[in-house]
Amino acid sequence: MPQNRSAQKRKSSSPYLFILLVLILLTAILIVGTRAMNTWKVYETQAAIQPDPTPTVTPISVTPNPFRATDTPVPPTAPPLPSATPSLLGSGSQGDMVKQLQSRLQELGYYTGNIDGDYGPGTKAAVQKFQQLNGLDADGIAGQKTMAVLYSDSALPAPGPVDTLSSAVPLLVNQWNPLPTGFEPADLVKVKDVAGNLMTYERDSIQGVREAAEALTRMIQAAVNEGYKPWKLREAYRTIADQQRIFNNRVTGYMTENSLTRSQAIARTRQSVADPGSSEHHTGLAFDLNVPGEAFGDTAQYLWLKNNCWDYGFIMRYTDDKEEITGITGEEWHVRYVGIQHSKKIQELGFCLEEYVEWLNRQ
Ligand SMILES: [Zn+2]
Repeated sequence: MPQNRSAQKRKSSSPYLFILLVLILLTAILIVGTRAMNTWKVYETQAAIQPDPTPTVTPISVTPNPFRATDTPVPPTAPPLPSATPSLLGSGSQGDMVKQLQSRLQELGYYTGNIDGDYGPGTKAAVQKFQQLNGLDADGIAGQKTMAVLYSDSALPAPGPVDTLSSAVPLLVNQWNPLPTGFEPADLVKVKDVAGNLMTYERDSIQGVREAAEALTRMIQAAVNEGYKPWKLREAYRTIADQQRIFNNRVTGYMTENSLTRSQAIARTRQSVADPGSSEHHTGLAFDLNVPGEAFGDTAQYLWLKNNCWDYGFIMRYTDDKEEITGITGEEWHVRYVGIQHSKKIQELGFCLEEYVEWLNRQ
C-alpha cells in the first residue's frame, strides 16, 4: 500500500513538473527577447546619430593665418575626460554628458549657446568647428577620438575675431590665399544700422566691418548727393560655413541634375563659386552693389562708382583685364575696402590687389 501511495504521488507530481518546465522556458524566452529589443534600440539610436549622407567637399589647403587674432583666448587647462564617457554623442543626445561637452566647447570658445544638455544644431556646429580646427574628421559627432582630443591639453581653442584692417599690407584673399577655417573678422556691424535708408538691402541682416561700412555710407551719400541713385546692397560679409553650404549645394545639384561624377561636379562648381575660405566676402570688407532691375555694368551708378570709389578707400576688385591674375572674371558690382591710402595708390599704379600686395612686399 505505501508503495502504491508513493507511486501515486510521483504520478500526480509530474503535471506540476511539466508546468514548472514550461514556466522556466517562457521566462528564458522573455529574457532573450528583451535583450534583443535593447540591442536593436541601441542600434537605432546610434544609426540616428550617424553623419548626414550629404557629401563634404574635398578639403582645401589652408595657409596659416598671417593675421594675429585679437583676443586669442588662453587655452584653459583640460579637465579630465569624464570617466563614464559614452562612445558616441551626436544630434539628439541628451543629458549630463552633453552638458559637460557643451561646457568644454564653451571654455574653448566654440560654443555660445545654452548649457542645456540637448545636442542640437548649435552643439553640432560647435563640434564640427572644433573638429575642423583640430584636424579631425568634421562629422559633428563627438565620438571617442574627438572626446579624447577635446579633453586633452593639446585641444586648440577657437581663434578670436581678426582685425582685418590692422596690417600694413591689405588682406589678400583668393584661391591661392584662402583664409583659415574658423576665420572671423572683428567689429562686424549691420550695414543698415550705419547707412540707414541710403540704400535698399537684399537682407536687413547683411553685415560688414564697421570702418568699411562707414566708408561705404560716405561714398553712397556722395553719389546720392550728386543725383546717382538708387542703390541696393546685395551682399557683404559671408561666413566660411555659408560658403561651404553654397558650394555643397551646387555640387549636389550638378551631381543629381546633370549626372556628373563628384569630381566633375566639384570642377564645374569652382567655375562659378569660390572655394570655402577663398571668397573675399569672408573679410567683411567686400560689398556687392546693384541697381534694382538693371544690369549694374550698364548703369550711371556703375560709372560713378568706377570713377570715384578710390576717394573713399574702395577699389574695383575684379576687372576683365586682370582676370588672369585674380582668377575671377570681371565683377563690376564688387568693391573692396582697403583704406584711402591704399586705394589711391592702387588707382595711381593701375594694379589689381594681387599686384599691389606683391609690389608692397617688395618695397
Ligand atoms: Zn562680391
